[in-house]
Amino acid sequence: MKITDVEAIRLQLPTVDERCDGTQDTLVVRVYTDEGVVGVGEVDSSPAVAKAIIDAPMSHGIARGLRLCVLGENPLDVARCWDKMYQGSIFFGRGGAAQQAISGVDMALWDIAGKVTGQPVYRLLGGGFRSSLRAYASILFQDTPQQTHDLARSLVEQGFSAAKFGWGPLGTSEAMDLAQVSMARKGLGDHADLMIDAGICYDTVTAIKRAHQFAEYNPFWLEEPLHPDNIEGYARLASVSPVRIAAGEQDTTLAGFAALLDAGVAVVQPDVARVGGPTMAVQIGRMAANRHRMCVNHSYKTGISIAASLHFLAALPNSSLLEYCVEQGPLRQTLTRETFPVVDGYVQVPQEPGLGVTLDEEVVARYRVA
Ligand SMILES: [Mg+2]
Repeated sequence: MKITDVEAIRLQLPTVDERCDGTQDTLVVRVYTDEGVVGVGEVDSSPAVAKAIIDAPMSHGIARGLRLCVLGENPLDVARCWDKMYQGSIFFGRGGAAQQAISGVDMALWDIAGKVTGQPVYRLLGGGFRSSLRAYASILFQDTPQQTHDLARSLVEQGFSAAKFGWGPLGTSEAMDLAQVSMARKGLGDHADLMIDAGICYDTVTAIKRAHQFAEYNPFWLEEPLHPDNIEGYARLASVSPVRIAAGEQDTTLAGFAALLDAGVAVVQPDVARVGGPTMAVQIGRMAANRHRMCVNHSYKTGISIAASLHFLAALPNSSLLEYCVEQGPLRQTLTRETFPVVDGYVQVPQEPGLGVTLDEEVVARYRVA
């Protein structure tokens, strides 16, 4: 069995704005084989940048597009293909957009491996610790605390037992921060878990202060309060925070996650569409498990990433929560025929061969960037 082509397809809504809402566009990857089996994956990056990294021609041996790195390889040699992409892109890669682009190809290779062997991907990753994950609703803070409150209440009414609010107006003032978090808690009630995503808005001193102030509202974690390069700040914050610190969605490498764990972060959040696909996501998760920390996915893209997240999380002992984006964008909601419904607060891990997703080709055609 040989890889005959790799296709990177940009999808984009008619309007894209500055909100940190990753559901406005995406990059879908298809890997084709000489036996007719096709794998599908997704990249969370700047889609145009990641597509260029996949399509790029040869510059020299360690500067070539990912497509050239894997053409002619056996798609079942997933680790070998991963290494060929990593080594073939050393010149411009070793993390960042190149690692994000590798994710989409790797995801598609696991999809092929599952389809060929008749197994769901999680089983090929080592087998399942659980068949469903508790979904936490993930959405942005609303413009006003009252709007955040009303949204929190509606999420509980939809059956979620946990919700995360992030970015938006957080960080504009102390008064706004405390009003947003207190109203989120009020809307959720005392029995649902509240996660706060600060969206890189604080310096270290402010983050330490907010962690103590937010503790009154009993958050499950405080996410990404600091710039991803501020590892020293994470170490200072984690050593004094009364609240779990979560981070990692901007990181793409094993070394980056090791640094966060060294700094004392309680929850690492690899995005399977950024860190190098399921191959690397499970390695990051196991590294966290070895240090007795939690691993929870970051994921804000389409059903492809939801499925891939469910598979790698199911294969880990330290992952029982699923980030479940509840933005109502059409790519997020309709690209895959599978909708991954939340039932009594849980989402089932797919049991079909491969990732267990089917693309709606009409949706692909509608949003495809020519
Ligand atoms: Mg986040």
